[in-house]
Amino acid sequence: MTKQLDLVESKTDCVFCKIVAGEIPCFKIYEDENFLAFLDINPWVEGHTLVIPKKHYRWVWDLPENLIGQYFAVCRKIANHYRQVLKTEFIMSYIYGWEVPHAHIHLFPDARGKIAMYPKIKRGQLSSEEGEKLAKRLRLI
Ligand code: AMP
Repeated sequence: MTKQLDLVESKTDCVFCKIVAGEIPCFKIYEDENFLAFLDINPWVEGHTLVIPKKHYRWVWDLPENLIGQYFAVCRKIANHYRQVLKTEFIMSYIYGWEVPHAHIHLFPDARGKIAMYPKIKRGQLSSEEGEKLAKRLRLI
């Protein structure tokens, strides 16, 4: 039952659906017909990015067969772009989904030794000035 509710096209209370709809702002990195990437508002590391499907799916595993390959290709495109721009080989990633119930993949440029999942450390909020500057540097649209 919950699954059916989670698979609706858009959830009015979903923060990522609101970003897709342009109802709340984001520091946009990449956009195409089906996917959007933007900076995480509470980054673990500089350039922490979230890649999402525009349509609301609860989990990455709920994307249909025809989109899942495109999804990974978009993540790869962004990761390789970051490798060039940020001059690092290390783009870490994870799929979690605890806080926001809309499928997303985290990308972390050069997070070696900088991420501790537990205990969850308090992260700072990205200011609009920082976010704009960074997004301009990393943007791939
Ligand atoms: P999780 O669901 O645990 O994989 O994490 C969700 C991520 O979304 C967290 O890292 C949050 O900082 C991030 N987040 C939540 N709201 C926003 C927002 N409005 N803009 C950008 N990132 C967000």
